[in-house]
Amino acid sequence: HHHHHHQSLPSIQPHVLIFPVPLQGHVTPMLQLAELFCLSNLKVTFLITTQTHQLLTRNNNIETRFARYPGFQFKTIPECPLDNRQQQPGSDRSLKDKVSAIVEVLALSAKPLLRELLFGPTKITCFVIDGWLGFAYDIANEAQVPTIAFRCSSGCSNWAYFCIPQLIEAGEVPFKDNQSEMDQLVKNVPGMDGFLRCRDLPSFCRGQDTSSCSDLKQFFINEIQRTKHSHAILFNTFEDLEGPILSIFRSQCSNIYTIGPLHAHLHYRRSKEETPSTDHSSSSLLRVDRGCISWLDQKPDKSVIFVSFGSSAKISKDQLMEFWAGLVQSKKYFLWVIRPDLLLGNDPDSPTPDEFLEGTERRGCIVQWAPQDEVLAHRAIGGFLTHSGWNSTIESIMAGVPMLCWSFLADQQINSRYVSEVWRIGLDMKDTCDRMIVEKMTNDLMDGKREELQRSVEKLSSLAKKSITEGGSSYSNLNHLIEDIKAMPG
Ligand code: UDP
Repeated sequence: HHHHHHQSLPSIQPHVLIFPVPLQGHVTPMLQLAELFCLSNLKVTFLITTQTHQLLTRNNNIETRFARYPGFQFKTIPECPLDNRQQQPGSDRSLKDKVSAIVEVLALSAKPLLRELLFGPTKITCFVIDGWLGFAYDIANEAQVPTIAFRCSSGCSNWAYFCIPQLIEAGEVPFKDNQSEMDQLVKNVPGMDGFLRCRDLPSFCRGQDTSSCSDLKQFFINEIQRTKHSHAILFNTFEDLEGPILSIFRSQCSNIYTIGPLHAHLHYRRSKEETPSTDHSSSSLLRVDRGCISWLDQKPDKSVIFVSFGSSAKISKDQLMEFWAGLVQSKKYFLWVIRPDLLLGNDPDSPTPDEFLEGTERRGCIVQWAPQDEVLAHRAIGGFLTHSGWNSTIESIMAGVPMLCWSFLADQQINSRYVSEVWRIGLDMKDTCDRMIVEKMTNDLMDGKREELQRSVEKLSSLAKKSITEGGSSYSNLNHLIEDIKAMPG
């Protein structure tokens, strides 16, 4: 087995079209999926906006990574101006606006190319679509091309999303932004009663009015319909992590495939090749600063906390100062990703990274963008202060690093509840941003609660590893999916 190198005839080689939303957290896992398909000798066309393609090429030499797969090609969608500068912290009305703005612009610029590809003379065997892109499903259905839904977030958060119409029906959503309502337990998400509080629901459930509530409900009902009619729905997760909640989900959607953690799955399958690739370029849209690795090399084992809020969260200057003071007071080493656009607004009085590091006795290192995968795997890292984005969460689990969660919005709210209450591999400081708490929880993570958290996350890490190696659940599910695709009418 694993002889991918014999030449198959182009006419019988299945051709998969893949279309992510052009944001970091979507492009990364969908490129990993694309490469996994290439390793199984599928032809892949990957749709991406010109601007995103340029960033991938300039910062990562993405063309080299894919040059070894003759069946792979990018197709670029004309310019798509994304403006994510308007986002407010913790406010999801603006997230919703941002998402619909992205999708609207993308729909306008992508539709002609999509029609050309799906109705054109080169046959598309199936179309893997980012869950957000409803318009792409419509065109695929019209062209009678089978669809596969790709979900960039966790199984648990998606299940809660699916239950939102019932939550609205039962009057549990919307709820007010005050402490007592936020701490109330949610009753109508099967499988999560007893630990899911209102504050753990996607933040767009907070403080809605009736009309936006019915918009929301319609949105999720449409999503469910789409997903049910797709050939498959793919999750970047694994059975030993989310099996229990997915078995409830499967009573509504029988076509769920767990194939993650995708980054590790890809590394594993690459290593099985006859000529394993030596190229480990990531899919970063920003330039990676590898300088922090030599800084880490000089630190003791598990002594550094890695701090990153992902690719698009924005925080206020006050929040930044609370994190900074808390980290400094904890007296721990910290490696902090401060993206050039992390701060809300453009405050000329904001301290520069150098000013931040003054007086910390070199305990801190600040970069604009880190090689996160490599950082998490470094022996010097002992904890991860994260916004609980799904990619970051699954990467941290795989690397066996306990988390301190400061979830920002959407699915992150549920992810951090699962991290702290269900998997018990981290601490959740949701909805608080105070230097005393940052200090205390950093010390709990790195010292006080370290051993038990470490033990649980290492257990999950080895289960993750098992799932993506030969015979494991994600490994078999991906093979199954590829067989399905090969059996589709070509
Ligand atoms: N990431 C990175 N370097 C950084 C910060 C983040 O490579 O300095 C990567 C991280 O490994 C992850 C992605 O960016 O794959 C962020 O995705 P996630 O789902 O965690 O959050 P989002 O950016 O979508 O909010």
